[in-house]
Amino acid sequence: MSGEANPFESLQSQIDEAAVHLDVGDDVIERLKHPERVLETNLTIERDDGNLERFKAFRSQFNGDRGPYKGGIRYHPQVSRDEVKALSGWMVYKCATVGIPYGGGKGGIIIDPDEYSEAELERVTRAFAKELRPMIGVDRDIPAPDVNTGQREMNWIKDTYETLENTTEPGVITGKNIASGGSEGRVEATGRSTVIAAREAFDYLGKDLEGATVAVQGYGNAGWIAAKLIDEMGATVVAASDSSGGIYNPDGFDPVAAKDHKNETGSILGYEECETEVTNEDILTMDVDLLIPAALENAIDADLAEEVTADVISEAANGPLTPEADAILEDKDVFVIPDILANAGGVTVSYFEWVQNRQRFHWTEERVNAELEELIVDAFDALVETLEAHDLDNPRTAAYVVAIGRVANAFEEAGSFP
Ligand code: NAD
Repeated sequence: MSGEANPFESLQSQIDEAAVHLDVGDDVIERLKHPERVLETNLTIERDDGNLERFKAFRSQFNGDRGPYKGGIRYHPQVSRDEVKALSGWMVYKCATVGIPYGGGKGGIIIDPDEYSEAELERVTRAFAKELRPMIGVDRDIPAPDVNTGQREMNWIKDTYETLENTTEPGVITGKNIASGGSEGRVEATGRSTVIAAREAFDYLGKDLEGATVAVQGYGNAGWIAAKLIDEMGATVVAASDSSGGIYNPDGFDPVAAKDHKNETGSILGYEECETEVTNEDILTMDVDLLIPAALENAIDADLAEEVTADVISEAANGPLTPEADAILEDKDVFVIPDILANAGGVTVSYFEWVQNRQRFHWTEERVNAELEELIVDAFDALVETLEAHDLDNPRTAAYVVAIGRVANAFEEAGSFP
């Protein structure tokens, strides 16, 4: 991972690239390139040994023109203000791309969760929830999981919010477990949309998914589910990696057994069906039909992009390509399904969870998956329609043209206060 590109600048250049194809004033575009507000806060909690420790945390509310702010909370040592701002902006355009009635937000704490006990993580999470309380709410801002957070953290945030507000409002947060008001299908949703979008892209390009080879970078929630589902669709997963390195078997391997191995040992390395170990760079440049980057942003920079040989990339991760890499891959005719569509399943099923919480009604998994399928296919069709109507080469630009058009339209229809 190069780590050099500033993700906020990447977001802004993506917006600029799409804006030239839209009949939207520069003043409105300028508004759509900056967050409305960013909370920067310091959380002090007691460690198990009695000492105090301080953690910096952020919440960015980027744009609320189409609905309440919506977006995950990340725990990672490399969380930064600019990263949170960028991620919150991507949420705005992601929600607009799939047409769900939300704006965008994002939060993060600078922390390596592996270094802390569960009790310490609970105190950090509840301290953050207390700071967030005035700015979140079921119609205001609805957080969700992101890297290194999951149902456990969402349940703690919900409980802290409800306790302090003296209310029952499960829809204040999504990604909860089922007992706390979560939705069927939420855990699989990001990987599911990543592969639905890939399947649609193969169909659009006239390529056969059956037997197509796939490499997956990052074997966490998004990556491993994508591997499992694309395998079920008939493709062959030949390589996967996590932060410890990568594994490869040209004949393919069982993604579920690889995940079991990772659960047991803490690493994907050493999985018996894949004796060949490869580097993360190998995974990204491997000769496969489909590459799924599912780790962190900036995984592929310009140098690596020159080496990429995949035909299709479905971005499970947020911002895995630097803008320079994106331009190079466009020149190389690689069909890149942008993150704001490919991984939108997570926020889409979060939206379904919120709808169910508000309805006080629980949907079946079949219903959740069917509604998700329809929204992602519709979003892919809108992308292709725009790609062709504007004679664009880059699917990302097409997705932004759709999304920015929708956000700008909501802003212009409503007018602004004051
Ligand atoms: P996760 O923490 O469950 O998994 C991340 C995985 O990436 C882990 O396997 C980790 O070992 C691996 N990883 C980290 N650094 C790596 C590196 N340099 N090379 C290879 N692997 C590396 O996180 P997740 O929820 O799966 O999220 C992954 C990406 O998907 C993030 O960009 C996130 O923003 C995005 N995303 C997730 C969701 C969701 O619902 N989980 C929704 C939308 C987008």
